[in-house]
Amino acid sequence: MRNLRAGSKEMMKELNKALVIHEIRMHGPVSRSEISKRLNLVQSTITKICDELMEQNMIFPIGEQQSTGGRKAISLVFNNNYGYTIAVKIEDYQILFALTNLKPLFIQTNSVCFDKHASFSEIQDLLGAGIAQMKAVAEEKSFRLLGIGIAVSGVVDQANGVLISSALLEWKDIHFRELLEPMFGLPVQLDNDLNCYTLAQARFGLGREESNFICMTIGEGIGAGIVIDNQIYRGAIGGAGEFGHTIVQLNGRDCLCGQKGCLEAHASDAFIVNYVHEKTGVRKRIEDILLEESAVFDEAVEIAWNYLGLGLINLIMLFNPEKIIISCHPQVGKHWKDPEMLQVVKNNWYERNGVFSTDIVFDDLNNDNFLLGASLLVMSELFEEPIYKGQGTIYNNL
Ligand SMILES: [Zn+2]
Repeated sequence: MRNLRAGSKEMMKELNKALVIHEIRMHGPVSRSEISKRLNLVQSTITKICDELMEQNMIFPIGEQQSTGGRKAISLVFNNNYGYTIAVKIEDYQILFALTNLKPLFIQTNSVCFDKHASFSEIQDLLGAGIAQMKAVAEEKSFRLLGIGIAVSGVVDQANGVLISSALLEWKDIHFRELLEPMFGLPVQLDNDLNCYTLAQARFGLGREESNFICMTIGEGIGAGIVIDNQIYRGAIGGAGEFGHTIVQLNGRDCLCGQKGCLEAHASDAFIVNYVHEKTGVRKRIEDILLEESAVFDEAVEIAWNYLGLGLINLIMLFNPEKIIISCHPQVGKHWKDPEMLQVVKNNWYERNGVFSTDIVFDDLNNDNFLLGASLLVMSELFEEPIYKGQGTIYNNL
């Protein structure tokens, strides 16, 4: 019993510490009294924790703020160079690597290409060598490495660092953590690439003010990251957010996944490429189609939006999000942003009845966000207490 209680006390201390670090990371510069107010924790607890964190060089004081009582309060900021992470994004023909600080900012990046349809065992050495190179840079600069974050397409068992299955990569059952942790002596966090993108939007992007939002990317495929009460919703096995494979047309176009009529087959780059091919008889790469911006392209983009609009209404009715962030090619986004086009989505029940309006915002598809999100995976694990994340549980006087 005594051990159990001692253990709980230790855990609560760790939790309080995690809450304080989170507060300073997300809202710094911030004074001790502000932290105390925000967390509803007594100031003596905050002071004790802050002293400890300053000793560890994880936070530091800056300037001096005049507080209301006339006494000077020191503001605290998180030390973004306290540690560093290695971020990795695995795509279907290349792997991207980055060494980041905790802001996170890129210190160094690299990439390596491989043949599409390669098996995991064929690229395993490339992955290891890329991580080793980033680790060597960090060691040369005497950086404290905190972990490796990996973004990968597919269904991910995040708790165990396992890629269960990836349709894009055609890989199954890859135990990334088990393989890489002993190799590099660093903790390894793995998540679906869309969830990493969403994490980046949640921390410093267009979703930073919202507790309930949906982040989607529309490019080669279509995917969605769903944030409910500040947490990414993963579903039973980590497969939630496969928005591209929801069906919007009975007996519609063939999809790569084997279904017919998936949103992805009617609104992604693949649809635009196919549509332009059907209308002109010439098969072009999406990059060229985007550059040319022909009348047929405009037509394809409008058709795609009508299907996407249906999908968006379904999402709005299911999740009632405050905001939907659409990350897509700028050439496509500029059409969809048009107020007349947006009317397709605004025609949902909530909006028509003046009950609620979901904010629809557009963002250029930004590949850096996947890597920055992978880096944030490492930080979330270290600086946020996962069990209690977002629950606001507090313990005083520890
Ligand atoms: Zn599909």
